[in-house]
Amino acid sequence: MSTRRKFIQGSVLGSAAVLIEKAALAKTNNTNTVTGNPIVVSTWDFGKTANVAAWDVLSKNGRAVDAVEAGVRVPEADPTNQTIGYGGLPDRDGFVTLDACIMDEFYNCGSVMALEHIVHPISVARLVMEKTPHIVLVGEGALQFALANGFKKENLLTPESEKAWKEWLKEARYEPVMNIENKLYDKTKDPMPGGHDNHDTIGMLAMDAKGNMGGACTTSGMAFKMHGRVGDSPIIGAGLYVDNEIGAATSSGVGEEVIRIVGSHLVVELMRQGHTPENACKEAVLRIIKRNPEKAKKIQVGFVAINKKGQYGAYALQKGFSISVRNNKTDKVFASKSVY
Ligand code: ASP
Repeated sequence: MSTRRKFIQGSVLGSAAVLIEKAALAKTNNTNTVTGNPIVVSTWDFGKTANVAAWDVLSKNGRAVDAVEAGVRVPEADPTNQTIGYGGLPDRDGFVTLDACIMDEFYNCGSVMALEHIVHPISVARLVMEKTPHIVLVGEGALQFALANGFKKENLLTPESEKAWKEWLKEARYEPVMNIENKLYDKTKDPMPGGHDNHDTIGMLAMDAKGNMGGACTTSGMAFKMHGRVGDSPIIGAGLYVDNEIGAATSSGVGEEVIRIVGSHLVVELMRQGHTPENACKEAVLRIIKRNPEKAKKIQVGFVAINKKGQYGAYALQKGFSISVRNNKTDKVFASKSVY
């Protein structure tokens, strides 16, 4: 635990430092990019494995948007990850419905919501972005679009997730659990320090060697949600936002509370005002608490962000949120600071 739960480096800036930061941003405007210095950050411990695929693209001078798509496809295809893609826990009626979105350095974005039967919703979202005049496709229409573009229809409900759903049906109480441990995962075989908590959504942000940014976010959403429920993850501005002049942010946790404050966009706008990534994430978390202090004590929400200088940071409501970071200097999982 203690090895894994190393706190994110870099502290909250005092007001003088914030002013310096602001001045630096103003002076360099949108050219304050650390070119030749790529970075990828993603939510949770399992982001570390996803970062490997993203880093493969970034280290060959690939585009950030290609890196994040390649990265998040890893947990999407992993049946032991019960909160993303194939093997994701179903809704209360037993359907696995997936949400994903992607955004590039030109404010292009694509999203799919409540998509069934497709292992890689992120790649469908990318095609929505690149091949259609729209940004969002939902449900049956998203499936039709995916099939028309060569994606294969598959059964995403694994026996393990079906079993968990049948177990849940006995009481059928919708109570999102914070920081769920993955029962399927054999910790003794985990090469990562401290084991592998199988939580939630993967949100991934990258800056490539040219200093351009991209982001992706993909999830099966809250386990045993109502059929048709969509969370923050595929909503541009809520679960993900990329502004190539400033930075990028993404989130994981109870999506309803992130949507309420348009969380990822808020984090990016706070960075625009001069906040560090960590402090911007903290302010967004505090906003959630301000909206509903009682509820905020019982749920988890975490944000992670990067800026154009290649700095990263995270903040969460509760302990247990982690981020995976890879750049030229590090390839590590960090425990996020939290309010509670
Ligand atoms: N944000 C996701 C949702 O609300 C779930 C999560 O990240 O835990 O669907």
